Amino acid sequence: MKKPNTLHAAASVAACKMTRFILRKTGRGGTAIPGIVGLKVSRNILSAVSSGMKIIVVTGTNGKTTTCNMIEHALTSAGHDCLLNKSGANLLHGIASDLICSADWKGKAQHEYAVLECDEAALKQVVPYIRPKAIVVTNLFSDQVDRYGGVQNTLKEIRTGVERSPGSVLVLNAEDPVSASLAIDVPNKVVWYGLNETVGTQGQVDLADAGKCPKCGSDYTYDFHIYAQLGGFRCPQCGYKRHDPDVAVTSITEKSASGSVVHMRPGKKAEDQEVRIALPAVYNIYNAAASVAAILALKLPAKEAVDALSTARASFGRLEAFDLQGNRLQMILVKNPAGCNQAFTYITGLGEDFSAVLCLNNRTGDGHDISWIETTDYEKLVSDPHLKKLYVGGDKAEDLYARLQKAGASEETTELFTDYKALVEKLKEEQNPVFLLPNYTAMMELRDALSPDTGSRDFWE
Ligand SMILES: [Zn+2]
Repeated sequence: MKKPNTLHAAASVAACKMTRFILRKTGRGGTAIPGIVGLKVSRNILSAVSSGMKIIVVTGTNGKTTTCNMIEHALTSAGHDCLLNKSGANLLHGIASDLICSADWKGKAQHEYAVLECDEAALKQVVPYIRPKAIVVTNLFSDQVDRYGGVQNTLKEIRTGVERSPGSVLVLNAEDPVSASLAIDVPNKVVWYGLNETVGTQGQVDLADAGKCPKCGSDYTYDFHIYAQLGGFRCPQCGYKRHDPDVAVTSITEKSASGSVVHMRPGKKAEDQEVRIALPAVYNIYNAAASVAAILALKLPAKEAVDALSTARASFGRLEAFDLQGNRLQMILVKNPAGCNQAFTYITGLGEDFSAVLCLNNRTGDGHDISWIETTDYEKLVSDPHLKKLYVGGDKAEDLYARLQKAGASEETTELFTDYKALVEKLKEEQNPVFLLPNYTAMMELRDALSPDTGSRDFWE
């Protein structure tokens, strides 16, 4: 891509920075608008501001934000200077805002590394400009069906992005047959990460999402299964199968609300070692392995990533903990069956009494199609004897309530609410830990209602 001349670059950076400054002064996050303004002034500004920076892009359905945070934490803990697009604005203009504003006034990059969360469909728009060193794909599950038209379409979008970035090392989940197929017929180097079969099966294999063997079109069989379509897949016809992971989790020795202890082999020739991951749930073990693989893709020592995992912090809405008058609240953003089922596995696996808040909106930020609640395993949640109280809210509360009743939720313990402030008052009287499970825009409303009592951060901080 052609670089803009210095004058153009400086004008674009100035316009972008000024716009963001004004938006923040007036109390708005202003995540996409500065990027739109910056790109209007100079179409090629992204090449200029990312030149000289080593960039890691993270895409996929679930775990993008947490994986980005883990990679950034690993890099900064090892003393590297790193930019992270914290706001979660992961479309072209949001990424442009963060990159352009991070440059100096002449349009020169000021960071050594950048870790960028990128929407699946936006990947192909950004990679030609920013030429990432590594592209991490966390997994591909059915998500926001109305936006992408199914998981195979999302895969096509990402593949186009990969094809436009042949120099990037791919960091891929060995157990996801969908995203693993990105390694076929491309010149890119690949670093694989995975959980071995010792981790154990959690629920039914989702063959509908697994798709067909990309080589011969047959259905897969599984040697072992972890969750959704993740596991030891194999084609019985042509022999195409899961790659042996470079970064492998070989066992899980401890699981609790504050984290996991696992054994990990951080590289094909590395020694197995005990690793503490400061974030709970199996899906965060995947994110942790992905972050170690990303560090290897940058040709940095795995030790830098492994050591940092013990001090990783929950990001915005991803198992983020709040204190409400001495009681523990934990927020888990849920937006598709795979993520939601994994949240239920985590919560019910703790074996302690709890209450839960489920909120469902269907606004633009969430996807208008809420049919995914039909295939989500709410039965697992409502049949848990430790569940004491269930609060149900959001624009589509009634649909969700009906779904929960179908799953067997009792009328005595399930309560519909319409007012978030009133909900917070009720939560103050809760004796048990509370899990908050909203989708995206509902999470924003819930946070606003909670913030006077919990002092939560603004999302761009
Ligand atoms: Zn095959």
